[in-house]
Amino acid sequence: MSDFIVQPSFAGSGTIPGPASRRPQADAGAAAASAGETKQNLLELDRAGLERFFVETLDEKRYRAHQVMKWIHHRHVTAFDEMTDLGKGLRAKLEAHAEVRVPQIQFEKPSTDGTHKWLLAMDGKNAIETVFIPDKGRGTLCVSSQVGCALNCQFCSTATQGFNRNLSTAEIIGQVWVAARHLGNVPHRVRKLTNVVMMGMGEPLMNFDNVVRAMSVMRDDLGYGLANKRVTLSTAGMVPMIDRLGEVSDVSLAVSLHAADDALRSELVPLNRKYPVAELMAACQRYVLRKRGSSITFEYTMMKGVNDRPEHARQLARLMRGFDNAVQMKDAAKVNLIPFNPFPGTRFERSPETDIRVFQKLLQDARVLTTVRRTRGDDIDAACGQLKGQVVDRTRRQAEFRKRLATRGGEADAAA
Ligand code: SF4
Repeated sequence: MSDFIVQPSFAGSGTIPGPASRRPQADAGAAAASAGETKQNLLELDRAGLERFFVETLDEKRYRAHQVMKWIHHRHVTAFDEMTDLGKGLRAKLEAHAEVRVPQIQFEKPSTDGTHKWLLAMDGKNAIETVFIPDKGRGTLCVSSQVGCALNCQFCSTATQGFNRNLSTAEIIGQVWVAARHLGNVPHRVRKLTNVVMMGMGEPLMNFDNVVRAMSVMRDDLGYGLANKRVTLSTAGMVPMIDRLGEVSDVSLAVSLHAADDALRSELVPLNRKYPVAELMAACQRYVLRKRGSSITFEYTMMKGVNDRPEHARQLARLMRGFDNAVQMKDAAKVNLIPFNPFPGTRFERSPETDIRVFQKLLQDARVLTTVRRTRGDDIDAACGQLKGQVVDRTRRQAEFRKRLATRGGEADAAA
């Protein structure tokens, strides 16, 4: 096997971080990383799991679990001896059996527009990216679910990195913890972090259990207290898992569509060959019908000359109108147009602004609710579709990508 390890380069940006942007072993909880593998990392557990751990392993009352959750997620405390409303005996038990191990910040970088990106070490070799995007009255955190991604969407920077593994629950919720601590977020009191989108690296529905558990902590009042509609899971179209998600969770759903017909979508999103547009739309209908009043956002990355022509808009409009009709609800389908964010080695270009506006108008004229996503974090490669961590690639995709680049005379280090 020819696994290839990307050197720590804050991948994709081509910039080597200066000393000011580095934070050595930044977290108090990071110290616990070496505390021993047999200890239970409490970040792995949602409320039900934590209650079980306190009752069954520690022989303690359930409400003690609630106290600890608040210390971790509201006050961002990871050291048990700082949890001052716990008795000495309990603190000693926790010390012996548990730890709060948060991701280590490999480095972080603020953008001039307020966007903030973290590169978080997940183990000795892999790292993922997490991005906070502030906007008027809201703060959205874009969270990763896997180290790399196996789905190979053609316009996605993450895809060029290949895939290593799923993130654990602790590694997913740990991203929220890092951002919340940085922002001084306190649920229901100091609301800096108002939305979470599972749109970072990876396909969240391929890591179902860990993602669902982490989203449960995001929505729990003892966790981050976010309303269901403020937690969004974005999928490339894992049809069976959309149904499963509908059975266990009420979060908002977003679908990476990017083309309304099978031929083009199969080219852009290879998963479409397995779950074509009609099957995907049927699963989306079932999701909405299960949760009356909910809507689905269809993301559509605008690529010059690829999927941005008026005929593509008309095709998309028909698909969206058909969706609204099928679920008998106005605006059940929303379209979010995303100007493509270029990355080194890509064969795609961003659609011109005028073409995007024409596309949007055609959709709006067909009574399809359509927004255009403002590009954020451009200067730190934190824009949508640009996230790349450090992935020990098990798929050989990085090697293939580099080979293609070299053949085309691209920069040999462009993929790093
Ligand atoms: S767009 Fe999403 S699902 Fe597709 S390759 Fe990128 S991270 Fe994976």
